[in-house]
Amino acid sequence: MVDDDLKKTFVIKGIGVSPGIVIGKAYLFDRFDAQTPFYKLTDPDLINKEIQRFRKALRESEKQLLDLKNRLSDLGGGMDPLYIIDVHIMILKDRKFVDQTIQNIREMSVNAEWAVRMTVDKYRDIFDRMEDDYLRGRISDIQYAGQRIMANLTGKKRAVLDVGERVVIIATDLSPADTAQMKIDSVLGFATDIGGKTSHTAIVARSLEIPAVVGLVSITRDVRTNDDIIIDGSAGVVIIHPDPEVRKRYEDKKRLYEAAQDDLLDYAHLPAVTKDHHSVEIGGNIEFVEEIPSAIAHGADGIGLYRTEFIYINREELPSEEDHLASYRSVIGVKGLSWATIRTFDLGGDKFYPDKKTSRELNPQLGLRAIRFCLKEVELFKIQLRAILRASVQGKLRIMFPMISGIEEIRAAKRIFFEVKDELLAKGEPVGKDIEIGVMIEVPSAVIVAEELAKEVDFFSIGTNDLIQYVLAIDRINERVTYLYEPLHPAVLRLIKQVVDVGHKAGIRVAMCGEMAGEPAYTMILLGLELDELSMNPLAIPRVKKIIRGSTLKESKALLNKVITLSSTAEIQACVDAAMRKHFPEEFPVNGQ
Ligand code: PEP
Ligand code: MG
Repeated sequence: MVDDDLKKTFVIKGIGVSPGIVIGKAYLFDRFDAQTPFYKLTDPDLINKEIQRFRKALRESEKQLLDLKNRLSDLGGGMDPLYIIDVHIMILKDRKFVDQTIQNIREMSVNAEWAVRMTVDKYRDIFDRMEDDYLRGRISDIQYAGQRIMANLTGKKRAVLDVGERVVIIATDLSPADTAQMKIDSVLGFATDIGGKTSHTAIVARSLEIPAVVGLVSITRDVRTNDDIIIDGSAGVVIIHPDPEVRKRYEDKKRLYEAAQDDLLDYAHLPAVTKDHHSVEIGGNIEFVEEIPSAIAHGADGIGLYRTEFIYINREELPSEEDHLASYRSVIGVKGLSWATIRTFDLGGDKFYPDKKTSRELNPQLGLRAIRFCLKEVELFKIQLRAILRASVQGKLRIMFPMISGIEEIRAAKRIFFEVKDELLAKGEPVGKDIEIGVMIEVPSAVIVAEELAKEVDFFSIGTNDLIQYVLAIDRINERVTYLYEPLHPAVLRLIKQVVDVGHKAGIRVAMCGEMAGEPAYTMILLGLELDELSMNPLAIPRVKKIIRGSTLKESKALLNKVITLSSTAEIQACVDAAMRKHFPEEFPVNGQ
């Protein structure tokens, strides 16, 4: 038996066709796909009997489809799936389809199943040659109708799905009739091998508002029933066996997605400027380049954090320079985004690294991860840096290094960075001209030596997720201590203030890219801290912009000045809550959560 802990996080990318995020267990939907039986009809009398058997199967199929249509319309969820069933019924009645099959039976003296199969294959040849994607995709209607007739011929009943718990359905493809056989309220999402934006799965998923990713090619081979799985229907990404950190991140995304309201999207493209004209840059945090459209749609000015370690997920082999390059070319200089902040990989410990020898540590959060790992595995680091630099000609790049704990690490990282840059220039490879270099401030020692670090870099980006974990000594993914994970802890606020003050005194930009930046309840405090950039999950941007636009810097600073003198989290929390309720009664109702 495979130990669940040992299953590796694995990502497959496809086409997101119905937005939303689900986290759950997989269920491999086993569409009957029986081997087509074949036999010759030796007696001429049998031929007419076989044709009658075929016609009977056509009638039964039509009746079943009409029943399904009724059941689907009872389920509600729009008319599209019903039209698709009508198309299947039309195929069953189509003269050419029926005549061709009868001709196959007669001329080749074969059984009806085989004759149907031949007809479907003939259509497939014709459809394969079509230029239009949509029309080419419609072969699935004919295949579906053929499979249904076949099932009636062989007497096989289609499996009815009732697994007793809510699951993510994994299938090669799904027809409306497949979905009609499922108890829809037990379905969390769909992920299929084939399909596009107009495939049945897509249409049905959208009309039932279930997240779905299609065109995943091998999902039915890669996933087994009961595997843990995450579906991001907005980005078109499926994650199998998510590790606790990835899972946690997606739980946050899911919460944000569910909290996002359409009317908030009105704020997405308005500038993040307070009523007294103080402006803040807004970044989007991404794990996959597929999330860029969402960052743009939700109003990011740029990418404030690209977690490049996700490039390493689910590979048996390490990514090549060209693999890296392809990702960075999709992020830097993208239309609609003014800059891209690429964080060099935060890998190691137990995070994604394929080499098992180095991947098990007792205390991975304190282990050989991020910049420590890069400075040990210099060749690996150089591959990434070369790719980042090669892509930097495309637009405005900010590069930052994670987990810097002291001056030696940033100096060493920069030394390697400039070495790689010089090598490229010597080879005549162009690189971007105004690349900014930054450090993530997420280890307490970095706060203490921030003055020295500031001399080495163009910007700071505060990673509150780790900073809080290390300052308060709380494992960020251990649910038993989450009650102690407090962004408003006085120690945390004071450290952040120290970083901003030191950064500004040294004349460099100070950003925040931890989850705290995207929490609207903290927005006034963060304004008061005078951070230059807030980078967050794209889904959080519209609401944060709404708060920024409804605040003044003056009031925010007054709030910060008040809370920074308080000695307990509870007092700070109460003070911040009261201020948010006063200024934004709609967003923070008295009895709200
Ligand atoms: C952080 O630590 O706040 C951060 C943004 O980085 P990550 O969550 O990837 O560790
Ligand atoms: Mg971090």
